[in-house]
Amino acid sequence: MKQHQQVSAIMVCCSSGPHFLERHLLFAEHQLGLSFNQSVILIPVFGGASVLAHTETFEHDSKFALKGLLFSLNEYEDTLKKIVLVNHEGCERAKSEAQGKKDLIKAQKTIEKHLPDDSDITIELWYAHLEIPENLESGLVFHKIETLECVGN
Ligand SMILES: [Zn+2]
Repeated sequence: MKQHQQVSAIMVCCSSGPHFLERHLLFAEHQLGLSFNQSVILIPVFGGASVLAHTETFEHDSKFALKGLLFSLNEYEDTLKKIVLVNHEGCERAKSEAQGKKDLIKAQKTIEKHLPDDSDITIELWYAHLEIPENLESGLVFHKIETLECVGN
């Protein structure tokens, strides 16, 4: 039987660095635990998950990201398993690591408001460090964030 490609994850990430999109796709392939017939929808936006943490300050980009997210949620509801939110070191819109991580949690809350109560979709938070500090052209190293880690920041 032919295996069809299934969309099992949506990722919101920052679009600001050169090669960022390729790096996020590689991350999805190697670290998100998707099997060969599962794919990811990328929603690149300047500021990554931070635009969903500050929906008034970044109103335009926030609406763009939410619209894409809600469309994909509806379109792929049968196969979708997770929403992946990514922020990165050296971002223009979340200038410190503490801010970037705090924004991930706020963004998660924004999205949860749009999910049905009985939704079994998980939201994962990831923070990407630059391999070479302050160099957006360097590689990215992705770390999964546990919510408790950020409480009190
Ligand atoms: Zn950025």
